[in-house]
Amino acid sequence: MASNPPDPIIRLRGVTKTYGEGPTAFQALKGVDLDISAGDFVAVMGPSGSGKSTTMNMLGCLDVPSSGTFEFKGVHVERLDRDQRALLRRKYLGFVFQGFNLLARTSALENVELPLLYRGESRKERQQAGMAALEQVGLAPWWKNTPAELSGGQQQRVAIARAIVTNPDVLLADEPTGNLDSERSIEIMELLTRLNQERGITVLMVTHEADMAAFARTIVHFKDGLVERIDTGHRAGVPV
Ligand code: ADP
Repeated sequence: MASNPPDPIIRLRGVTKTYGEGPTAFQALKGVDLDISAGDFVAVMGPSGSGKSTTMNMLGCLDVPSSGTFEFKGVHVERLDRDQRALLRRKYLGFVFQGFNLLARTSALENVELPLLYRGESRKERQQAGMAALEQVGLAPWWKNTPAELSGGQQQRVAIARAIVTNPDVLLADEPTGNLDSERSIEIMELLTRLNQERGITVLMVTHEADMAAFARTIVHFKDGLVERIDTGHRAGVPV
Protein backbone atom coordinates (compact mmCIF):
# COMPACT_ATOMS: atom_id res chain seq x y z
CA MET A 1 0.00 0.00 0.00
CA ALA A 2 1.42 3.37 -0.98
CA SER A 3 1.94 5.63 1.99
CA ASN A 4 1.12 9.29 1.53
CA PRO A 5 3.20 11.91 3.28
CA PRO A 6 1.50 12.85 6.57
CA ASP A 7 -0.68 15.94 6.61
CA PRO A 8 1.23 18.79 8.21
CA ILE A 9 0.26 19.49 11.80
CA ILE A 10 1.13 23.13 11.07
CA ARG A 11 0.52 24.92 7.79
CA LEU A 12 1.29 28.60 7.25
CA ARG A 13 0.27 30.24 3.99
CA GLY A 14 1.15 33.81 3.00
CA VAL A 15 1.50 34.86 6.63
CA THR A 16 2.27 38.51 7.21
CA LYS A 17 2.60 40.42 10.46
CA THR A 18 2.67 44.19 10.66
CA TYR A 19 3.45 45.95 13.93
CA GLY A 20 2.06 49.46 14.39
CA GLU A 21 0.11 51.61 11.96
CA GLY A 22 0.66 54.41 9.47
CA PRO A 23 4.12 55.72 8.68
CA THR A 24 5.74 53.85 11.59
CA ALA A 25 4.19 50.47 10.64
CA PHE A 26 6.71 47.69 10.31
CA GLN A 27 6.15 44.44 8.45
CA ALA A 28 7.99 41.77 10.47
CA LEU A 29 6.68 38.86 8.35
CA LYS A 30 6.25 39.35 4.62
CA GLY A 31 4.44 36.22 3.42
CA VAL A 32 5.63 33.09 5.19
CA ASP A 33 4.73 29.66 3.79
CA LEU A 34 5.68 26.74 6.01
CA ASP A 35 4.54 23.15 6.54
CA ILE A 36 5.58 21.20 9.62
CA SER A 37 4.88 17.48 9.76
CA ALA A 38 3.69 15.82 12.95
CA GLY A 39 6.64 14.24 14.73
CA ASP A 40 9.29 16.47 13.16
CA PHE A 41 12.09 18.14 15.11
CA VAL A 42 12.52 21.61 13.65
CA ALA A 43 15.18 24.21 14.37
CA VAL A 44 14.34 27.81 13.42
CA MET A 45 17.41 29.90 12.65
CA GLY A 46 18.18 33.32 11.21
CA PRO A 47 19.68 36.69 12.09
CA SER A 48 18.24 38.87 14.84
CA GLY A 49 15.16 40.69 13.58
CA SER A 50 14.42 38.16 10.82
CA GLY A 51 11.02 37.21 12.26
CA LYS A 52 11.72 34.07 14.29
CA SER A 53 10.01 35.20 17.52
CA THR A 54 7.08 36.70 15.64
CA THR A 55 6.58 33.34 13.91
CA MET A 56 6.95 31.39 17.16
CA ASN A 57 4.37 33.67 18.86
CA MET A 58 2.01 32.84 16.06
CA LEU A 59 2.69 29.11 16.15
CA GLY A 60 2.18 29.29 19.92
CA CYS A 61 -1.27 30.83 19.25
CA LEU A 62 -0.27 33.90 21.27
CA ASP A 63 -0.70 36.15 18.26
CA VAL A 64 -2.50 35.97 14.91
CA PRO A 65 -1.32 36.92 11.41
CA SER A 66 -2.16 40.33 9.94
CA SER A 67 -3.00 38.38 6.78
CA GLY A 68 -2.61 34.84 5.53
CA THR A 69 -3.65 31.57 7.16
CA PHE A 70 -2.37 29.38 9.99
CA GLU A 71 -3.85 25.91 10.22
CA PHE A 72 -3.12 23.79 13.28
CA LYS A 73 -4.41 20.23 12.90
CA GLY A 74 -6.66 21.59 10.16
CA VAL A 75 -8.15 24.33 12.39
CA HIS A 76 -7.83 27.87 11.10
CA VAL A 77 -6.25 29.58 14.10
CA GLU A 78 -6.52 33.03 12.52
CA ARG A 79 -10.32 32.67 12.79
CA LEU A 80 -10.30 31.87 16.51
CA ASP A 81 -10.78 34.43 19.26
CA ARG A 82 -8.41 34.86 22.17
CA ASP A 83 -10.21 32.39 24.47
CA GLN A 84 -10.41 29.71 21.80
CA ARG A 85 -6.71 30.12 21.12
CA ALA A 86 -5.98 29.79 24.84
CA LEU A 87 -7.88 26.49 24.92
CA LEU A 88 -5.98 25.21 21.91
CA ARG A 89 -2.72 26.27 23.54
CA ARG A 90 -3.50 24.49 26.80
CA LYS A 91 -4.58 21.30 25.08
CA TYR A 92 -1.94 20.86 22.42
CA LEU A 93 1.12 23.04 23.12
CA GLY A 94 3.99 23.07 25.60
CA PHE A 95 6.41 25.99 26.00
CA VAL A 96 10.06 26.12 27.05
CA PHE A 97 11.85 29.46 27.38
CA GLN A 98 15.47 30.55 27.55
CA GLY A 99 15.04 31.92 31.07
CA PHE A 100 13.28 28.78 32.46
CA ASN A 101 10.45 30.96 33.93
CA LEU A 102 9.99 28.82 37.04
CA LEU A 103 8.27 30.08 40.18
CA ALA A 104 10.87 30.76 42.88
CA ARG A 105 10.21 29.41 46.41
CA THR A 106 8.09 26.69 44.81
CA SER A 107 9.16 23.07 44.57
CA ALA A 108 10.07 21.40 41.28
CA LEU A 109 6.94 19.24 41.56
CA GLU A 110 4.62 22.21 42.17
CA ASN A 111 6.15 24.04 39.23
CA VAL A 112 5.54 21.04 36.98
CA GLU A 113 1.98 20.61 38.27
CA LEU A 114 1.02 24.20 37.47
CA PRO A 115 -0.49 23.64 33.98
CA LEU A 116 -2.68 20.89 35.48
CA LEU A 117 -3.87 23.25 38.21
CA TYR A 118 -5.08 25.59 35.44
CA ARG A 119 -6.91 22.62 33.95
CA GLY A 120 -8.67 21.98 37.24
CA GLU A 121 -7.27 18.49 37.80
CA SER A 122 -7.35 16.98 41.28
CA ARG A 123 -4.37 17.11 43.61
CA LYS A 124 -3.78 13.38 43.23
CA GLU A 125 -3.88 13.49 39.42
CA ARG A 126 -1.55 16.47 39.43
CA GLN A 127 0.98 14.80 41.69
CA GLN A 128 1.00 11.57 39.71
CA ALA A 129 1.39 13.30 36.36
CA GLY A 130 3.93 15.76 37.81
CA MET A 131 6.12 12.99 39.22
CA ALA A 132 5.90 11.04 35.94
CA ALA A 133 7.04 14.12 34.02
CA LEU A 134 9.92 14.73 36.45
CA GLU A 135 10.89 11.11 36.00
CA GLN A 136 10.97 11.56 32.22
CA VAL A 137 13.53 14.35 32.59
CA GLY A 138 15.55 12.44 35.19
CA LEU A 139 14.69 14.69 38.12
CA ALA A 140 12.28 12.64 40.25
CA PRO A 141 14.68 12.64 43.26
CA TRP A 142 14.73 16.47 43.19
CA TRP A 143 10.94 16.91 43.35
CA LYS A 144 11.06 18.86 46.63
CA ASN A 145 13.82 21.25 45.59
CA THR A 146 13.13 24.88 44.71
CA PRO A 147 14.73 26.41 41.56
CA ALA A 148 17.45 28.10 43.68
CA GLU A 149 18.50 24.65 44.89
CA LEU A 150 18.93 23.34 41.33
CA SER A 151 21.57 23.97 38.64
CA GLY A 152 20.69 25.82 35.42
CA GLY A 153 20.51 22.56 33.50
CA GLN A 154 18.24 21.03 36.16
CA GLN A 155 16.00 24.12 36.14
CA GLN A 156 15.59 23.79 32.38
CA ARG A 157 14.70 20.11 32.88
CA VAL A 158 11.98 21.14 35.34
CA ALA A 159 10.72 23.64 32.76
CA ILE A 160 10.64 20.86 30.15
CA ALA A 161 8.78 18.57 32.58
CA ARG A 162 6.24 21.39 33.09
CA ALA A 163 5.90 21.71 29.31
CA ILE A 164 5.23 17.98 28.76
CA VAL A 165 3.03 17.29 31.80
CA THR A 166 -0.09 17.97 29.72
CA ASN A 167 0.99 15.54 26.96
CA PRO A 168 1.26 18.23 24.29
CA ASP A 169 1.46 17.43 20.57
CA VAL A 170 3.94 20.25 20.01
CA LEU A 171 6.75 21.62 22.15
CA LEU A 172 7.80 25.20 21.34
CA ALA A 173 11.22 26.11 22.67
CA ASP A 174 12.73 29.60 22.39
CA GLU A 175 16.50 29.30 22.69
CA PRO A 176 16.19 26.58 25.34
CA THR A 177 19.96 26.36 25.79
CA GLY A 178 20.66 30.09 25.62
CA ASN A 179 21.59 30.31 29.32
CA LEU A 180 23.53 27.04 29.58
CA ASP A 181 27.13 25.94 29.05
CA SER A 182 27.82 23.58 26.17
CA GLU A 183 27.76 20.37 28.21
CA ARG A 184 24.39 21.24 29.79
CA SER A 185 23.13 22.39 26.39
CA ILE A 186 23.89 19.02 24.83
CA GLU A 187 22.06 17.26 27.68
CA ILE A 188 18.99 19.40 27.05
CA MET A 189 19.16 18.70 23.30
CA GLU A 190 19.46 14.96 23.98
CA LEU A 191 16.40 15.20 26.21
CA LEU A 192 14.41 17.02 23.51
CA THR A 193 15.55 14.41 20.98
CA ARG A 194 14.35 11.62 23.27
CA LEU A 195 10.95 13.27 23.80
CA ASN A 196 10.68 13.70 20.04
CA GLN A 197 11.65 10.13 19.20
CA GLU A 198 10.06 8.21 22.07
CA ARG A 199 6.90 10.24 22.65
CA GLY A 200 6.49 11.54 19.12
CA ILE A 201 6.25 15.14 20.31
CA THR A 202 6.77 17.62 17.48
CA VAL A 203 9.58 19.95 18.58
CA LEU A 204 9.98 23.51 17.27
CA MET A 205 13.03 25.28 18.58
CA VAL A 206 14.58 28.68 17.92
CA THR A 207 18.34 28.65 18.20
CA HIS A 208 21.29 30.77 17.15
CA GLU A 209 23.71 27.90 17.52
CA ALA A 210 24.46 25.55 14.63
CA ASP A 211 25.59 22.88 17.13
CA MET A 212 22.10 22.85 18.65
CA ALA A 213 20.28 23.07 15.30
CA ALA A 214 22.24 19.97 14.27
CA PHE A 215 20.04 17.93 16.62
CA ALA A 216 16.99 18.78 14.50
CA ARG A 217 15.73 16.88 11.47
CA THR A 218 14.57 20.03 9.67
CA ILE A 219 16.21 23.46 9.78
CA VAL A 220 14.16 26.49 8.72
CA HIS A 221 16.23 29.59 7.94
CA PHE A 222 14.53 32.98 8.23
CA LYS A 223 15.76 36.16 6.57
CA ASP A 224 14.08 39.58 6.40
CA GLY A 225 10.65 38.30 7.42
CA LEU A 226 10.62 35.36 5.01
CA VAL A 227 11.62 31.71 5.00
CA GLU A 228 14.86 31.81 3.07
CA ARG A 229 15.64 28.10 2.97
CA ILE A 230 14.59 24.79 4.52
CA ASP A 231 17.10 22.00 5.09
CA THR A 232 15.43 18.64 5.52
CA GLY A 233 16.53 15.12 6.23
CA HIS A 234 19.00 15.66 9.04
CA ARG A 235 19.28 12.64 11.25
CA ALA A 236 18.25 14.02 14.65
CA GLY A 237 21.04 13.86 17.19
CA VAL A 238 23.79 13.62 14.61
CA PRO A 239 25.68 16.90 14.26
CA VAL A 240 26.34 17.93 10.65
P1 ADP B 1 13.83 37.62 15.65
O1 ADP B 1 13.12 36.77 16.64
O2 ADP B 1 14.24 36.88 14.42
O3 ADP B 1 14.97 38.39 16.25
P2 ADP B 1 11.43 39.21 15.73
O4 ADP B 1 10.33 38.35 15.22
O5 ADP B 1 11.55 39.41 17.18
O6 ADP B 1 12.80 38.73 15.10
O7 ADP B 1 11.29 40.67 15.10
C1 ADP B 1 11.15 40.91 13.73
C2 ADP B 1 11.09 42.41 13.52
O8 ADP B 1 9.86 42.91 14.06
C3 ADP B 1 12.20 43.19 14.21
O9 ADP B 1 12.65 44.21 13.36
C4 ADP B 1 11.54 43.76 15.44
O10 ADP B 1 12.13 44.99 15.81
C5 ADP B 1 10.10 43.94 14.99
N1 ADP B 1 9.17 43.77 16.12
C6 ADP B 1 9.01 42.65 16.87
N2 ADP B 1 8.05 42.82 17.80
C7 ADP B 1 7.60 44.09 17.65
C8 ADP B 1 6.60 44.87 18.31
N3 ADP B 1 5.85 44.38 19.31
N4 ADP B 1 6.41 46.15 17.86
C9 ADP B 1 7.13 46.64 16.83
N5 ADP B 1 8.08 45.96 16.16
C10 ADP B 1 8.31 44.70 16.56
